[in-house]
This record gives sequence, C-alpha cells and structure tokens, in this order.
Amino acid sequence: MAAQPRDYYEILGVERESDATSIKRAYRKQAMKYHPDVCKDADAADRIKEINEAYEVLSDETRRAKYDRYGHDAPSQPDFGGGFGGDSPFVDIFETIFGQPMGGGRTRGGPMRGDDLRYDLELTLEEAVLGVDKPVKFQRMESCDACTGSGAQPGTEATTCVQCGGDGHVRVVQETMLGRMTARQTCPRCRGVGRVIASPCVACNGQGRARKVRERTVKIPPGVDTGMKMPLHGEGDAGERGGPAGDLYLVFHVKEHDVFERQDRDLICEVDISFAAATLGSTVQVPLINGTEELRIPEGTQSGHRFTLRGKGVPDVHGRGKGDEHVIVNVVVPTRLTQEQKELLRQFADSMGEKPNEHENRGLFGRLFGG
Ligand SMILES: [Zn+2]
Ligand SMILES: [Zn+2]
Repeated sequence: MAAQPRDYYEILGVERESDATSIKRAYRKQAMKYHPDVCKDADAADRIKEINEAYEVLSDETRRAKYDRYGHDAPSQPDFGGGFGGDSPFVDIFETIFGQPMGGGRTRGGPMRGDDLRYDLELTLEEAVLGVDKPVKFQRMESCDACTGSGAQPGTEATTCVQCGGDGHVRVVQETMLGRMTARQTCPRCRGVGRVIASPCVACNGQGRARKVRERTVKIPPGVDTGMKMPLHGEGDAGERGGPAGDLYLVFHVKEHDVFERQDRDLICEVDISFAAATLGSTVQVPLINGTEELRIPEGTQSGHRFTLRGKGVPDVHGRGKGDEHVIVNVVVPTRLTQEQKELLRQFADSMGEKPNEHENRGLFGRLFGG
C-alpha cells in the first residue's frame, strides 16, 4: 500500500456531498470493476482492499463524519473491518447487483425469491458474431445439502415459535398518553419467521443456504453486443423458505478486434490493394469474420472506395436478418521501385502528358519520383 493513503471519496469516485445511496452504487461499480473474476490487473487485489476500506468508512455515518473532519488522521478504530465483508477479502460482485429482489413475498418469514446475480462475460468479436458455447463459473447461494434447506441440524427440525404461536407477530400493549394501545410487532424471538431452530445446521449455520461454485456451459447466440444482458432463469441465488430462485444475468463485453470495426450489425475493415490492381482491376482476398472471400476490384478503383458485401456482417440477435461487411480499399503507392520500373512509369507519365521529374509536380508521380 502507498505510504499516503488515497482519499476515500476519490477511490469510490463520488462527490463529498454524496448520499448513502450514491456511495453504495459507486462502491458496487468499483468493486465490480476490480473484482478478481473480471479484472486481471496485478494490483486488482490491492484496489479491492482500498475500495472496501473506503466503503467501510463512508458507509458508516459516524466514521464518515470523523473522516470528513480529520481525514486519514482520524483516531484509529479498534473495530476496523469488523462486521463487513465477512472473512472474504473481496466483496461478492454477485450480491444483489440488481437492487431489491424482485417479486417474492415482502412479508418476513414467508417464502422469499432468491437474488438475481450478474456475471460479466468478455467475448471476442468472432464469438459475439458467430455465437459460442462458453463456460461460465459463478458463485451462488444454494439450498444446503446437509439440512435440505431447513436450517435445522439433520435429525432435528424447526419448532413452532412459542412466543407468537407461529404467526411471526406479537401484540404489545403500550401505555401512552392516550391510554393503553396495542401494537402489532414482529416477534422478537423468531424474528417473524414463526418457527425457531433449536439446533441450527452446522454446515450452513442455520441459514438453510450455502454459497457454492457452479459451472455452466452457456450457449451464446450469434449477434450479441456489449451491454446486452442475457437472463438465465433460475440460475441465481436459491430462494429462502421455499421461495423461487433468482436469475443469473450474463452481461456481455465484446473486445476490440484487430481487423474489424463493428457498427451495430455492420462490420467495417480496410484492405490494402496495389496501385496496379486499383488501376487495371483485379481480384483480391478480403477478410470475413469467419474466413476470407474474393472481391473483384474493377478497373480504376479509387483509394477510399467502399465495397459492400451483403449479409456478411453481424446477424441480428433475434434472428431478424444480417448486417453487411464494408471493405474500404486503400491504394498503396509503391515506395521502392527499380530503375526499370521507374522508367516504365516515366513512360506512362509521359503518355499522360505529365512531367514527373519537375519540382512543381505535386501529383502522384511527383511523390513516386520525388524522394
Ligand atoms: Zn444446512
Ligand atoms: Zn415467534
């Protein structure tokens, strides 16, 4: 770590006035960017540590206020690092990236739909255009094998909460200025679940779910592009108390290509052709995303001319047609000519009525013979 720690706001990329929500959002963004599953930089682990540290302070109102006042010289905190991030040095990028779990019961104690997960998948242009079967390795919460999701140690089972009788709520009588009032509150004993686990499952600490690494081979359809999301239904976190599983969202990132530039469904490339081929006409090999093809260059083709190969671009991801490939030709002016070749070109220039050897000639022949 650097001797002078960086400013926490700067690390998360937020303004000093940012509210808790923006800080949380910025933190997730940064944590995802440098997550070791995504970022292959050598200092990614250090960055994550720094990001976690910044978030620990800025997400805690008291510590943030102290930091705002004293900066890094704030009196040291004995509880530093406690209660956040568990024993893992990395924050889990798969946790509730998509915000609130969708659907499911809001009521405590009822079945809850599992969280949606996000997986950032990098593809080459070839893979994105042609489609590919891609292995995807991710972590998710699954129903615990040992207790089959009940959270109770095998051989035992959860019992109905005696305090609320399984309702999950209790009525409390309060003496107020207006007299006695009854309020409905979440049962403090079972925390609203209605059942109490006397001996929690050791494997999952009574959670009923455990984090597991899963690998899937996913069929990526041809035509995906950066930023597109593909849901894999039911591949997210397992639900709680019998709720349905969430979804896993693949988010695509298509890498730059050496030869092709992509513009939506079109591919664009540049191809060098010789001066003679451009002048006299020829047939040249041009690259396709999955091979090569012969392209007829007509006589008198100018540099910068664009040829279109219909249907050789990117297929629509929903199967609605295909884009085109555009080949832009670049006529290469020869730089090293033999005496004999120069003589032939002089004769050619002569026949065109040009005087290539003279200094004022700034045309093609001027450049050919000027050097
Ligand atoms: Zn268990
Ligand atoms: Zn209860």
